[in-house]
Amino acid sequence: MAPALDRSGLLTRTFQMSEAVERFVGAARAFFYEVALSGRQCPVCGGRLAMSGESRCRCETCGQESDPTCAFQRCPACGGSPRLRVRRYECEICGMDMPSRFVFDGLVFDVEYFRQKMEEHRQRTAGRMERVREMLAASRSPAIAAGPLDLANHPGLLDALDALVDGSPVALQIEPRSRFDLKAYQAHVQANLGTLGRDFDEIPALRSDDRFDRVWRFIAVIFLAHEGRVRVVQDGEEIMVMQRETDREGQDISGELEEADGVEGLVG
Ligand SMILES: [Zn+2]
Ligand SMILES: [Zn+2]
Repeated sequence: MAPALDRSGLLTRTFQMSEAVERFVGAARAFFYEVALSGRQCPVCGGRLAMSGESRCRCETCGQESDPTCAFQRCPACGGSPRLRVRRYECEICGMDMPSRFVFDGLVFDVEYFRQKMEEHRQRTAGRMERVREMLAASRSPAIAAGPLDLANHPGLLDALDALVDGSPVALQIEPRSRFDLKAYQAHVQANLGTLGRDFDEIPALRSDDRFDRVWRFIAVIFLAHEGRVRVVQDGEEIMVMQRETDREGQDISGELEEADGVEGLVG
């Protein structure tokens, strides 16, 4: 019976095994490429070809790089040449799928396609940032033009100032501004979300349709989100406010909006 292995012995054996498998795969790939290229010559100078990657080869004489699938394979149905479409080859005449005979165990990428996708993605992100910047700039209030001071305009202010100087306090008769009732705004926002949620701009005003009401609705949303009672997802200029229901697992769409492009995962 073979002696029992301890943990480190087992690990050493595992690494040795994995190295042996890697060596074997390397040798198998070299053999596969050799067979695939046998009898093939550089289309430019007739020199010897060597594979430099999946469906990439290089002439050992003139250094010309080429795609052997496009150079040597033909469509079995119509004789057309293959062309690379994103990640697979197809016949450029009849459109039939043409698995490459020059790909061992990897994938072939249309590098130009992915470069273009990344560029479009970058431009979209930059455009989104620009729109947000413009939106913020437009929402800035204009500079305040300070007119001449008119103390008499505020009832009781002059009396109060006199009293301050005299040292005899007088109650000020200034009308208080309407106060922000956070609880009322929070209840109002939650009552208007519906089951799925709502675009922030569609939540109706609570008191009046002025800027303060909008600011207070927004503060209420931020507090609700902070307390974990709603979820806020921003997508471009839209702010979606959603009821947070802890028992609805697996329906979190916030992550999906972020990944909507799906390009990052493919190109490092
Ligand atoms: Zn050559
Ligand atoms: Zn064809």
